[in-house]
Amino acid sequence: MTATEPFRPTLAGSPAPWLLGKIVAVGRNYAAHARELDHPVPPEPLLFMKPATAAVDMEQPLALPEGIGACHFELELALLIGRPLQRGTPGMARAAIAGVGLALDLTLRDLQERLKRDGHPWERAKAFDGSCPLSAFVPANRLDPDRSRFQLWRNGELVQDGDSRHMLFPTGRLLAEISAGFTLLPGDVVLTGTPAGVGPLQPGDRLVAELEGQIRVATRVR
Ligand code: ZN
Repeated sequence: MTATEPFRPTLAGSPAPWLLGKIVAVGRNYAAHARELDHPVPPEPLLFMKPATAAVDMEQPLALPEGIGACHFELELALLIGRPLQRGTPGMARAAIAGVGLALDLTLRDLQERLKRDGHPWERAKAFDGSCPLSAFVPANRLDPDRSRFQLWRNGELVQDGDSRHMLFPTGRLLAEISAGFTLLPGDVVLTGTPAGVGPLQPGDRLVAELEGQIRVATRVR
């Protein structure tokens, strides 16, 4: 189900003080994933956005759009912003991270390929209702978002095994680059890119997402 009320992230086990704002995401931040989709590694972060209405609780069963081709999972480390950041330095950017969690950047891959081929924007494939299931966030002082392992199992099989040490643009640089164009506000979420292993979801799939012993979410596709 997608809600019609604003989404409030969970931080340290409680509702965060902020409603979710915008979601800024980066494409191709892991070289192995860029290769698996046959894309060149970009010289600067490739940014796109999802609106707040894309966010849903990852623990609730996932509702996928039907009849528009494959919907791929992309497990990503998600950063919850806790301080305003405008044209920040990498050091200021790191201090703006309030929490670290997991997100699924759900992508209508067939539609995305068609839109890209036609030179059109991606939003219909990436920013639809429910396209951003989010876990709860743990406080940023509990782990280093540039040195975190995160994994996704589908129906018991390990399909994504990421380590943020392999990000092409580490979090400080990434947030600094984002904030040069898009002011980040408390409650905004940044998705840091997916490692290799993305693939299509099917109705009834069971997913388990884990972040370094800090977060474990079990969910399913309706
Ligand atoms: Zn992604």
